[in-house]
Amino acid sequence: MNVFAKNLDTIITKIEKARIAYSRHQIIQLIAVSKYVTIYDIQALYECGQRAFGENKIQDLKAKTQALNELPLQWHMIGTLQENKINALLALKPTLMHSLDSFKLALAIQKKCEANHLTLNALLQINSSGEPTKSGVKPQEAEETYFNILKHCPCIHLEGLMTIGANTSEVTKIEKSFQTTKDIFDKLKANGARILSMGMSGDFEIAISCGANMLRIGSALFEK
Ligand SMILES: *Cc1c(COP(=O)(O)O)cnc(C)c1O
Repeated sequence: MNVFAKNLDTIITKIEKARIAYSRHQIIQLIAVSKYVTIYDIQALYECGQRAFGENKIQDLKAKTQALNELPLQWHMIGTLQENKINALLALKPTLMHSLDSFKLALAIQKKCEANHLTLNALLQINSSGEPTKSGVKPQEAEETYFNILKHCPCIHLEGLMTIGANTSEVTKIEKSFQTTKDIFDKLKANGARILSMGMSGDFEIAISCGANMLRIGSALFEK
């Protein structure tokens, strides 16, 4: 049996359990975060049926999309983007960028998109835990930033929000960071927000209980 089939099975079973406890009507998409693994491991998970993959560095995203361009994969950019890498990202035509983390970056992307007649699907990243090492807009500025991007950046198709859970073993703190993001998401639904990307290997069940509909899972899927 493929080395990753069992991991994928275990994760899907856990996702299903948490999903049904939250709502039978919830549809959840799993993004396999492949940042620590080779193209051979990505191919092995593809053979188990996985189609969406995420990378956090432009150079890795580029190398892996090019090496695997024969496969019908969806690619997600989940890491912080430097302004000097915008053109490189746009050229790769990612399915979704999860890490749009400021209005300033949005304006810079808008400019490049306009010049090259391109568009970008993106999520606004929220720093829901207040940890200084994390990127993202502050929860209290999130709605205003979202509206500013909708208004001033027509080439960016904003589809929702992304957050990284608080980096702690205290479940209540993790829950609080996810719930904060879910509350903002609910307010933005009337303005087209439909994707809520939150939950990683260590906290995806908590994220689902708070309404996540897109998960980014790496190490738990690819452990050997
Ligand atoms: C690495 C990473 C993940 C996946 O983390 P795991 O703990 O390996 O599941 C998810 N989101 C982002 C933004 C990451 O950088």
